[in-house]
Amino acid sequence: MLNTLVKRTWAEVDLDKLKNNYLSYKSQLNAKTEIMCVVKAFCYGHSEDAVVLFLQNELGVKNFAVSNIDEAVRLRKLGITGDILILGYTSPEAAQTLSEYNIIQTILDASYAERLNASADRRIRCHAAIDTGMTRIGFRGNSAQIAESLLYISRLEKLSLEGAFTHYAAADSLDESDTAYTARQTKLFFEAADLAEKMGVRLGCLHTLNSAGGLFHSEGLGGRSQFVRLGIVLYGLKPDSSLELPVNAEPVMSLKSLVTQVKTIESGVDISYGRTYTSDRPMKIATVCCGYADGYPRALSNRGEVIIRGKRCKITGRVCMDQFMCDVTGVDVSPGDTATLIGKDGSETITADDIADLAGTIGYEIVCGISARVPRIAVCGNIITDVCRLNL
Ligand SMILES: *Cc1c(COP(=O)(O)O)cnc(C)c1O
Repeated sequence: MLNTLVKRTWAEVDLDKLKNNYLSYKSQLNAKTEIMCVVKAFCYGHSEDAVVLFLQNELGVKNFAVSNIDEAVRLRKLGITGDILILGYTSPEAAQTLSEYNIIQTILDASYAERLNASADRRIRCHAAIDTGMTRIGFRGNSAQIAESLLYISRLEKLSLEGAFTHYAAADSLDESDTAYTARQTKLFFEAADLAEKMGVRLGCLHTLNSAGGLFHSEGLGGRSQFVRLGIVLYGLKPDSSLELPVNAEPVMSLKSLVTQVKTIESGVDISYGRTYTSDRPMKIATVCCGYADGYPRALSNRGEVIIRGKRCKITGRVCMDQFMCDVTGVDVSPGDTATLIGKDGSETITADDIADLAGTIGYEIVCGISARVPRIAVCGNIITDVCRLNL
């Protein structure tokens, strides 16, 4: 079924799962809150080509968020017609591109607003970032100071302020002190927004929620967050691997590779660089053609597992740049068999969150890190609909 050129290591992107995740998430939201799909970093590594038009054309998504102007322009060139918000920095020198492509830019602070205003020749649509506790970007201070800042930028001639948002630092934690922190962030944000509006600033849309926020912290908001900026749960991963999600989200991406060689070895044989694994009995070893250059973490050396013919097989020795070896003793394996690195085979499943836990990171970093040389195969109704490369 797969093009032979693609058949080395590939990522399958299951659009049916994407749709289910989206609908399941939406069904638990306050009716006043809309979904803004966060499609930064190639849709968290899933590839824009495979995902964004499906979101727009099949699911009717009208609001998108990205991290930078390259991503925003790529979305326009792919045919995205809805609103696109850049969540981070854009060089003020790119002011013309922002207006030409009708892109909404986040305002980081007053100095950024002045520089953008000075280099714009047409009006630029903007949302103000309010820093209520992330200490990353945004206007800082008490509610009165933030309101003053909003008033100030609302008067800049070339900026058209259409919204304001904040970002939670710990919405994925249900711990008491983190929950209180999130509540304080919400309170400061809406107090500042209310004050600014009393001062005559028309803020347009206000939004605070990320994936975890929309699941765990939207109750008291009464729909005041016009958007949830839905990222990780859209792709079926958890904001924090220890959470139980109150929605049916399933991972959209699977990562697969091939067994290229199978050999039997005696006891006392060293495997891979640095000889970190030595067989203590006769074993059957399979070589798989995927490595850290594909984004499969080297930290999985001697720790990770893959699924071959429905059986979990332990990685033996170090993961190399393009290949690794695993223990297939007792498994009926031949060269050409599929190895499932992330995903389901038979009754066994390995998730990006499982890998992340072993590699000391988070699922976000695993899926974003699957490298450009791995083709993304979009699948819908078990049929391949597209073979995509990450195109800069
Ligand atoms: C990345 C990002 C999101 C999405 O976060 P998830 O945890 O993936 O839902 C939302 N808002 C901002 C500002 C972001 O940078």
